[in-house]
Amino acid sequence: MSNKLIFFTQIAQVIIVIGSLFGFFRLMVQQIVQQKDATIELLRERATGLEKQLDSAKTTTSDALLDRYYRKIGMLESELSKLDADDQTSRRLIEEKHREITTLNAGIEVLRDVMEEYAEKASRVDECPYCEASLLSVGQVDYADEHAIVTHKTYSCGYSEGDGFPRSSCPNGPPLVRVEPKAMDDSDSLQN
Ligand SMILES: [Zn+2]
Repeated sequence: MSNKLIFFTQIAQVIIVIGSLFGFFRLMVQQIVQQKDATIELLRERATGLEKQLDSAKTTTSDALLDRYYRKIGMLESELSKLDADDQTSRRLIEEKHREITTLNAGIEVLRDVMEEYAEKASRVDECPYCEASLLSVGQVDYADEHAIVTHKTYSCGYSEGDGFPRSSCPNGPPLVRVEPKAMDDSDSLQN
């Protein structure tokens, strides 16, 4: 083999290697570009999909929101009607209580009248029980024959009593019935 041939063979080898390398790089670049394009396409599709999703989400979300508001309003309305019913119940209760108070007030009036009547009667203790003549004197009288100290009351009409028992009659009352006060006094002292 001549040196010339060897040289040309080597050059041809180098050219082949460089050519195949070029081919390889071109392939790689092409692949990369294709991949990039595919990725871009994919991203574009995804973006479109997302946009569509967003659009539908916008409408559905507002729909859902509206729905929720309507439901809330419905709940509030039912609560309001319930409160209204409660209010009517409370109003009825209040009216009932008012009636009870009125009844109680009427009862109090009656009681007050009764108490006034009693007070008036109690004030009449100082009057003769038969003619309402006024009391002249009250005093402790020692009835030596009866061995008793008696509260003696004398009235302007002439009626008098000792410890509640008549001792002289009222001109407008029944005739004097003499009760033995000693026995009564004994029972009184037994009680005391
Ligand atoms: Zn009298």
